[in-house]
Amino acid sequence: MATKPAKKATRMYGIKQCKKQTPGYNRVRSSDEYHTSRWTRLSRIFRAEHPLCEICKSKGLIRPAEVVDHIIPYPVCGDFFDSSNWQSLCSKCNVEKGNRDKKIIQEFKRNRTVSKNI
Ligand SMILES: [Zn+2]
Repeated sequence: MATKPAKKATRMYGIKQCKKQTPGYNRVRSSDEYHTSRWTRLSRIFRAEHPLCEICKSKGLIRPAEVVDHIIPYPVCGDFFDSSNWQSLCSKCNVEKGNRDKKIIQEFKRNRTVSKNI
């Protein structure tokens, strides 16, 4: 008797994976600019010049930087490629700062919406 082939295991990437791993976590889509070769190149150069996590460094810890972060969140600062607004962070600090930034971004968008309606 013929049997159905076993269902292929599906791998989950990106938003689905995040939702699955962190219940209630509502991920805000990142800017398309993060997925450009320009950003990849410039952030790599920046990390080479600033190889340590700035937040860890301020706490007296030495951790290698893994990402480049916008000090003032991108939707608020408005200029994605302004390197004076960048800092190198480790993944842990980036996640923690990202969660704090989310509130700032939401507040910024709420205020912008209110001012448009006046
Ligand atoms: Zn850090």
